Amino acid sequence: MTRHQGRHFLHIPGPSPVPERVLRAMDMPVIDHRSAEFAELGKTVLQGAKAIFKTANPVIIYPSSGTGAWEAAIVNTLSPGDKVLMVETGHFATLWQQMAARWGIEVDFIPGDWRRGVDPAVIEEKLTADTAHQLKAVMVVHNETSTGATSRIGEVRAAMDRVGHPALLMVDTISGLASADFRFDEWKVDVAVSCSQKGFMLPPGLGFNAISDKARAVAKTNKMPRSFWDWEDMLKLNANGFFPYTPATNLLYGLREAIAMLLEEGLDDVFARHQRLAAATRAAVDHWGLEVLCQEPKDFSPVLTAVLMPPGHDADQFRQIVLDNFNMSLGSGLSKVAGKVFRIGHLGECNELTLMAALSGVEMGLRVAGVPHRAGGVDAAMTLLEQPLPGNAPRHLAVVK
Ligand SMILES: *Cc1c(COP(=O)(O)O)cnc(C)c1O
Repeated sequence: MTRHQGRHFLHIPGPSPVPERVLRAMDMPVIDHRSAEFAELGKTVLQGAKAIFKTANPVIIYPSSGTGAWEAAIVNTLSPGDKVLMVETGHFATLWQQMAARWGIEVDFIPGDWRRGVDPAVIEEKLTADTAHQLKAVMVVHNETSTGATSRIGEVRAAMDRVGHPALLMVDTISGLASADFRFDEWKVDVAVSCSQKGFMLPPGLGFNAISDKARAVAKTNKMPRSFWDWEDMLKLNANGFFPYTPATNLLYGLREAIAMLLEEGLDDVFARHQRLAAATRAAVDHWGLEVLCQEPKDFSPVLTAVLMPPGHDADQFRQIVLDNFNMSLGSGLSKVAGKVFRIGHLGECNELTLMAALSGVEMGLRVAGVPHRAGGVDAAMTLLEQPLPGNAPRHLAVVK
């Protein structure tokens, strides 16, 4: 086995690297989750999470992965036989569609080519045709982690408003939240689904649902059987900082610290940093002469970049070479694009120099693997990152402010 000094470079688009500050914050004794001390922690994170979703509405925190939070969104608001609209943006949209189908939901799944985000015009067309208002929900993925395409949720909402359709807007922002601009209240999202191990920079284990008044009202009359995921059970105890069953206490310590870090930097600066690192990554990829999977510049993801391998070269073989030689994990291609793409995560605990190291690993890997490319992508990324932050002090000064 290859031995390595120094730290492992985890550049998959989730789990993302956990900052030391967060790791230290979790290094705490487990406390009684029915104690007054716990209630303070509970109230702090339940309140703090609202700021990250940009909502005044409740945010529910489950001890679960993102998939669990998907299920919570479905079982609280929908029932077997209900019709919903979804868009095939990639692997995660497809999994959400499959889950809904297992719950007996009838999904109108708009086909996609996995190379762009949701087209709001198609949503508008579908809703306009649904004059009987049979569609109960529009369910879309904000940042499609399998392809590196981000959907414009504000424009989807605008399309729904133009039609005046009453469907709920449900958004998987599992890899979008805290990395890509997301505005729950302003975009009138009804249910937002997220989890801990992407933009929140935490280990896996927390799932989130932000819920609108409208979604909560629908849930109250929804007959779908549910227990563990029931919103009302949660909200009743959350009001005093408690949970109906044992929460993931130490992850909540970490969440408190992660929220503090995100708000210290400022969400707008967090989003700008992700955009900048994504632009530098694409500059390198373009220079190498490789192709970014996402074909729609408006939808380029600030979270990750999926790169197509030249024909005849296997992406997984390449990723193995990078791991063996340079101790870096890159994301694999999922289902339809398995072996065809590799994904560079540039989310969360990531800055100019960690990105440059990651891109160096990719360029060295291309050379070692004998993948045809034009040398100097790293330099192209550096040239972009040397430019000052727009209208801002140098980065280290901006952080101190
Ligand atoms: C990671 C991810 C999921 C799945 O989350 P798990 O925590 O693995 O259950 C779903 N959707 C998107 C967009 C994701 O990035």
